[in-house]
Amino acid sequence: MTQTQPVETIPQPRHAPVAVPTAGQPYEYRRKPLVEPDWTRFPGWRHITWEQWESAQWQRVNCVKNIKQLRTVLGDLVDESFYEDLAADQSALATMSMLVPPQMINTMVPFAPMSTESFLADPIRRYMIPVASDRRTDWPSHPYASRDSLHEHDMWVAEGLTHRYPTKVLAELLSTCPQYCGHCTRMDLVGNSTPAVDKLKLTLKPVDRYDAHISYLKAHHGVRDVVVSGGDVANVPWKNLESYLMRLLEIETIRDIRLATKALMGLPQHWLQPDVVEGLERVARTASRRGVNLAIHTHVNHAQSLTPLVAKAAQTALDVGVRDVRNQGVLMRGVNATTPDLLDLCFALQARRASCRTTSTCAT
Ligand code: SF4
Repeated sequence: MTQTQPVETIPQPRHAPVAVPTAGQPYEYRRKPLVEPDWTRFPGWRHITWEQWESAQWQRVNCVKNIKQLRTVLGDLVDESFYEDLAADQSALATMSMLVPPQMINTMVPFAPMSTESFLADPIRRYMIPVASDRRTDWPSHPYASRDSLHEHDMWVAEGLTHRYPTKVLAELLSTCPQYCGHCTRMDLVGNSTPAVDKLKLTLKPVDRYDAHISYLKAHHGVRDVVVSGGDVANVPWKNLESYLMRLLEIETIRDIRLATKALMGLPQHWLQPDVVEGLERVARTASRRGVNLAIHTHVNHAQSLTPLVAKAAQTALDVGVRDVRNQGVLMRGVNATTPDLLDLCFALQARRASCRTTSTCAT
């Protein structure tokens, strides 16, 4: 953990011990129906229709990228001290720039009165819109902490292609996502530079980068598993992504392809667009015909993020032939580091057929 990661400093009423059930078990499962929170509770989205909300384009155009835009959405639901706390973080501590789709903001304080206190305590807010008071300054950084904590760049065999393990590679197709998470382990490359981090830049044209990946994989028959990532593949224009995946599928030795996209949760509208669904079906059919396991890996950290639109996007991917939709959450204090939060998350994911695997790394 680096010194600048958001960690818990604020009392967390939502993490109070769960009521001990009559059987004396430490956890009580409660089945909760998925609900799309009402976005018209936000002053800035009071007149937004369901048709607008379902539109991937509307979601992308209305992402919150700065404090001014956040003020427009929240109005006076939070007070000035919150914005000062946020500005203090952005000017000196933040390792990721701000980018939050409306879909994700709408899962913050979804069913309780919004106030400065409830917004500060919210688990989604804590990792998507970190503020200075979230940071622990009394703990030193880990002695081996570094910007590229997994040394992915050191192991590039072509731009964006990390070959760390004998049988698998990580292919970073691009360096952007539809949403930026405050804890991103790929902060060295992903997103815009911040006052605290000057980011590494991809320099090749995408077409040349992709050609270099395919050439390497054609020449290295020991690789059977490709994580197609970034950034987030939801930001690759669909025709380019489909072309890349079809080229991978022509390589006999590749048996597993994992598409990394937090947008399945953060921007499910993207994965529900007709051209994307049709394209995904073509890729899934080809993968099935060639005996390749095609999976989507997403990144959900809290059950609160799961809404009917997210479930529909995951189910649609399964319906068109993607073999698995898996989750790789990140364990974070103040977000999901309690037994009830993790079990709620796993059960909520399992309820919709998506398989749940909570690990310490991000899908993307
Ligand atoms: S989606 Fe993944 S790669 Fe993108 S900012 Fe979040 S953690 Fe980083």
